[in-house]
Amino acid sequence: MNVDNKKPGRKPLYVYYMVAAVIIILLNVLLIPSIEERKVEKTDYSTFLAGVEKGYVTTVEVQDDYIYYEATSNGQVICCKTVKMDDPNLVERLEKANVKFGAVAPEQPSIFMSILLGYGIPILIFVLLGRWLSKKMMSSMGGGPGGAMSFGKSNAKVYVKSSTGIKFSDVAGEDEAKDLLKEIVDYLHNPQKYREIGASMPKGALLVGPPGTGKTLLAKAVAGEAEVPFFSISGSEFVEMFVGMGAAKVRDLFKQANEKAPCIVFIDEIDTIGKKRDGGIAGGNDEREQTLNQLLTEMDGFDGSKGVVILAATNRPDSLDPALLRPGRFDRRIPVELPDLLGREEILRVHAKKIKIADSVRFDEIAKAAAGASGAELANIVNEAALRAVRDGRKFATQADFEESIEVVIAGYQKKNRVLSNKEKLIVAYHEIGHALVAAKQTESAPVHKITIIPRTSGALGYTMQVDEGEHYLMTKEELENKIATFTGGRAAEELIFHSITTGAANDIEQATKLARAMISRYGMSDDFDMVAMENVTNQYLGGDTSLACSFETQTLLDKKVVDLVKRQHQKALNILQENIGKLHELAKYLYEQETITGEEFMNILQAPPAQIGTAQSNNSSEETTAAQEV
Ligand code: ADP
Ligand code: MG
Ligand code: ZN
Repeated sequence: MNVDNKKPGRKPLYVYYMVAAVIIILLNVLLIPSIEERKVEKTDYSTFLAGVEKGYVTTVEVQDDYIYYEATSNGQVICCKTVKMDDPNLVERLEKANVKFGAVAPEQPSIFMSILLGYGIPILIFVLLGRWLSKKMMSSMGGGPGGAMSFGKSNAKVYVKSSTGIKFSDVAGEDEAKDLLKEIVDYLHNPQKYREIGASMPKGALLVGPPGTGKTLLAKAVAGEAEVPFFSISGSEFVEMFVGMGAAKVRDLFKQANEKAPCIVFIDEIDTIGKKRDGGIAGGNDEREQTLNQLLTEMDGFDGSKGVVILAATNRPDSLDPALLRPGRFDRRIPVELPDLLGREEILRVHAKKIKIADSVRFDEIAKAAAGASGAELANIVNEAALRAVRDGRKFATQADFEESIEVVIAGYQKKNRVLSNKEKLIVAYHEIGHALVAAKQTESAPVHKITIIPRTSGALGYTMQVDEGEHYLMTKEELENKIATFTGGRAAEELIFHSITTGAANDIEQATKLARAMISRYGMSDDFDMVAMENVTNQYLGGDTSLACSFETQTLLDKKVVDLVKRQHQKALNILQENIGKLHELAKYLYEQETITGEEFMNILQAPPAQIGTAQSNNSSEETTAAQEV
């Protein structure tokens, strides 16, 4: 600690001493000799002799090399010096002129004294002055009673005591996470209640979840409710702002926290310092590893009963070092998942309080349409709706504003200037209806909420919003297969009607493949592999990348199985469309003319008399996806 403590103060002092030294040397070399010299006038020997003869010279002092003398000129006494010459008659002359004279034993000033006077005393003065100055500086910076420059003080802005004023009521949904955090807040308020029974609070809680679900917001709410000091720091600040000092920062953070207990320490994006340490592979980040080690040590070291609670947030829990996650460090893992239907509605309501809305706005409808959106996206949707209202010169946002802004947030703005040729537009219409029709005809797939064929800035030429009524946590093999069939439905319609295929299905293909692959390699939904995982998910909250965990031979087999599965579903989609080709034409024509079709209109046409096929009552539909299906 000490070493670190002094560091910030050392540099200015260095500079100060350097400047002082230069000044002292200059004084010695230039100024002092010239002061001594000033009053003594230099003359030549002949002038001196003339002065003696004429009686001007009153006293003479002969030294080693010089002769110093006083002479009166114009009534004034001046001091002069002249070079001593080899002049044996000098004494005689001086006697004759009646001058007081003598030779002084050469005064060799002692080296010790001259150094002391020339250097010692000035240095002493400067040192004292410097001390006094730096002491004054420290006390004005608010250093502790010891006067030492405290590390944390110089960067107090890093550990901000929260004054955000965010409360739990500002966080909608996420009830489980809120309950767990409320308990921590309660503990900080009345620790006695817990101590009586012998319970101790978890030392740390880790908030994990996808981006934009409100992890940072929750931590801020804890700070707002707890009314205890709240130290907030982002993981990246340890390694970025203080290069080479990560470990020292951690030490200091915990020292401060201990002093301020009870308090909360919040480390956001902890994965930046908490990454798994790899087994000494060259090129590892030494700095980060040291920081992590320090963090582990500190978390072990402090006394949980004192009331220091560590909160941390991350969206990459799987990349964290296992040592960090073990009980005793982060005992509690609080999942902050994407909001469900009710959660979405609440979040919309919380954010809609900030804008003016029409009374007719139905939040449940909007929440339904925004399936799969995160809290951050919902906040964005509300804001986009308000912006759209302003653009249209209205004083409040309407249902239509919200509906449009969902599409804006998910698929981008409408592209005004991209004009599709009629042929292209027709293909897009059939493609989208193909998806929807296949979905509707498989009883367990979600019905569509809305289809539009207005190009979007995201590059989608058409856009299908699938909506479901209820929540789903498990998916059966059949449901997954139906989803794959739905993904292939767009391309199937193109094939069936135009007997040619387009590039428009790229996104569908990607999603169908991903799903099919997961079914076989991770969900154990193929006979050959039984319950053996061929792939592992590496970061579930950020796109869900996978890494293969099987031999080359198995990979080949796996690929083949994926292709088979998708092929089967593609064929199924083709069959469904073939059976309903009349409805396909009818619906596609409607979409082509109107450019937008709602779920209701879609079902009306589908269930209308001409084709009396069993109605597709697909209310208990599949899992929640916002199917932003590009054409
Ligand atoms: P992250 O989980 O990535 O840390 P944030 O907490 O930063 O996400 O959330 C970003 C923004 O999204 C918040 O500022 C807030 O406006 C909004 N938001 C996210 N979740 C919620 C929620 N549950 N309730 C209200 N607003 C939310
Ligand atoms: Mg965050
Ligand atoms: Zn498609």
